[in-house]
This record gives sequence, structure tokens and C-alpha cells, in this order.
Amino acid sequence: MLRRIYLDNSATTPVDPRVVEAMMPYLTDQFGNASSIHYFGQQAKSAVDKARHQVAGLIGSRPNEVVFTSGGTESNNLAIKGILERNADILVRYPNEADRNARVPHLVTSAIEHSAVKNVCEDLEKQGYRVTYLPVYEDGIVRLDDLKNAVTDDTVLISMMAANNEIGTLQPVEEIGRFVKELRASGRKIWFHTDAVQAAGKMPLNVEEIGCDLLSMSAHKLYAPKGVGALYVRRGVRLHPQNIGGHQERERRGGTESVPNIVAFGKACEIAAEQMATESAALGKLRDDLESRVGEMIPNVIFNGDRERRLPNISNISFRSIEGEGLLINLDMQGIAVSTGSACSSGTLEPSPVIRALGPPTPSSASETDEDRARGAIRFSLGRYNTAADLDRLLEVLPASVENLRKLAPASARA
Ligand SMILES: *Cc1c(COP(=O)(O)O)cnc(C)c1O
Repeated sequence: MLRRIYLDNSATTPVDPRVVEAMMPYLTDQFGNASSIHYFGQQAKSAVDKARHQVAGLIGSRPNEVVFTSGGTESNNLAIKGILERNADILVRYPNEADRNARVPHLVTSAIEHSAVKNVCEDLEKQGYRVTYLPVYEDGIVRLDDLKNAVTDDTVLISMMAANNEIGTLQPVEEIGRFVKELRASGRKIWFHTDAVQAAGKMPLNVEEIGCDLLSMSAHKLYAPKGVGALYVRRGVRLHPQNIGGHQERERRGGTESVPNIVAFGKACEIAAEQMATESAALGKLRDDLESRVGEMIPNVIFNGDRERRLPNISNISFRSIEGEGLLINLDMQGIAVSTGSACSSGTLEPSPVIRALGPPTPSSASETDEDRARGAIRFSLGRYNTAADLDRLLEVLPASVENLRKLAPASARA
């Protein structure tokens, strides 16, 4: 039988057996609604409280600053739209369509955000907000000076991912946090959100050190089930809820808590906090070994994103003169699961906007900088259950797969 190897841990992760064990009682005997006053309700409530401590422990926040959501996408929506809607009274919206020159609330983000930030921003633009998408450079990282230049008197929100989901590069969130603090010290109303879905559990994250007001997390990227996540909301920051209903999550997110999922997420955060240092070091070694062997065995490859300032578990490699989708399918037939980039854009043949945004050493947003590089990009994302043997197997099949596809490539597609 074909041995299946999963190298797509940035899309989702398998659930850790210890996490399954922790959540199981809440699917069976301890099924209460955390809002109920009776025994069953109280059991559920204390389980949710415990999970809130565990999640807070991973990011250095207070437990009551953690709002449980249905995942990273909801957390991002709640953070961005919640801030804008709640604070609309202090924002200057332009009075009517005719007056395009009037001041409008402004957001600053990066050109390589996950679709759960990018598409929210694009939607806000349709509603009249102004958004600046900061370019990244060849290294896949924004520049603090560009951000400082982009911020105007009308900027109310900066949303900057902590780590990118396709190439793993880390943005200078701590520097941004310090800059936002300075602005605030001079009386400005401005908030800072970071999408830390990929970073959580892979690198130390501390909301005080980052200086963010809002931080998004998702459980299924750290060995817990899909459909649960959290938004850190700094004490004193007010949001307009996006799910309006009951009083759950202290009026910040209505809806009966998904107790089993929340328990699972809490357990996963506790495990991540314990294992992160050793696990990330081991994944980094595997990843570096993979890259040096690919570099030796396969000509005409590009390693995408900064080699240092990135997560330890992601390697994004462009294989010149081939279609990444072709290679993905070829590897899948041989039992190896990889990705061409964001899972949200798979199924389309649009080359990855993230790789397109990596220009030459001058700033560039998504343009035709290097289509061939974007078309041939493959993300290998390692996780807790990968072994050196998995990568040995990958390297048994990868060079021939690439070579075969290159032979098939039409001359026009060759570099
Ligand atoms: C996966 C991901 C999300 C979306 O999280 P879901 O829980 O799947 O909604 C958001 N941002 C980043 C960076 C991600 O990798």
C-alpha cells in the first residue's frame, strides 16, 4: 500500500492524541451548556475557563483577554470590523460619494496577508475605507519605514501578520507595536492587530512584547480540531461584536461555546507551550536539511522568503519552468501531500499572489515581477509527526518528478 506522507501542516494539522483525550469527555458525559446554572453547566464553564488560561498562557495575556471564536477567519473579521464599527464615532467617514477628497478612515496592512485579512480589507475598501497594502521585498518582509510613511492622521488600524502562511516569513511586529505605542502616547486613536495563526505554537509570542491590541489564533493549525480559535483583545479595547446573540464571551461573541473544541484548543496550547522550543528546533533542522538537499539535487530552484527571519517549519521553493499544480498532483500520486501556497487559492490556476509580491530588491506589490517563479512555487510545511524518513522519501521522488515535468513543459514556459 502507498505510504502517505503529509507535508502540508500549514494548511491544517492532525489532532494530537492527547488533545483528543482531553476533549472526549465533553463530547460524552460532560455535555453541558457553559451558560447553564446547574451542575452540567458549571462543569462546562470550568472547562472553558481552564482552556482560557491555557490559551492565555501561550501568548502571555490575561485569561479574560481571550475571546473564543470559530477560528482564524472569524478572529480576523472580529478584530478588524469590530474595531472599525465600535469606534465609528471617532472616525471621519466621508459624507457622501461626491466628496471623494474628504478624509476617510485608513487601514494599513501588508500585500501578503492571508485571505481572511486581505479580503476583509478589500470589502472595507468597497464600503469607503482606504487601505494601504505595504509591499514586501525580495525577502518577503515589510519595512518599518514604509509603514511609518503610510500612516496618516486618518489611520485607525494596522493589521500585520506575525508570520506568513506561504513562505513563513516573520514581520517586524514588535517594532510596529512600539511605533503604535509612540503614536498613542501623543494622543492618537490607533489600534494594532496581528494575525498570528501560523506563528502560534511555532515561535514564542507575547502580547506585551509585541504591543498589539488584537491577536488572532486558530486551533487547527496547532494540532487541535477545525472550527475553533481565539482573538486576544487587550484590556480596555472595545469591539463591536460580529456575532450578536447571547452574553457569551462577555458580550464580545454571542453563541453557545463549542466546549469540546475549546477544551481541545486549550490542551493544544498547553502542549505547544511545553514543547515549542524542542519541537521548533527539530523542525528547523529537518527543514534546513531538506533545503540543502534540494539545492544539491535539483537545478534552477529558488528558495522563497528570508532564510533567517521565518518560521522553522515552512519551506517554499520555486521550481523553474514547471507548473506547481502539476508537481503537486504528481507528488500526490506518489503519496506525498504538499501545497502550491494558500489552500484558499488552490483549485484555481492563479499563481500565488504572495510569491508574486516578492519583487526584486526594490519594493513591489503583486505585479508581473516573475510569473515563472510564482507558477512553480511549492510549499512544504512540516509538523509534529514528520520524520527524517518522510523527507528521505520525498527526496527519492522529487528530483525525477521535477525533471519529468520540465521535459513536458512547452518551450514557451521554459525560463
Ligand atoms: C489558516 C489561516 C487563517 C484562517 O484560519 P481558519 O481557522 O482556517 O479560519 C488565517 N490566517 C492565517 C495566517 C492562516 O494560516
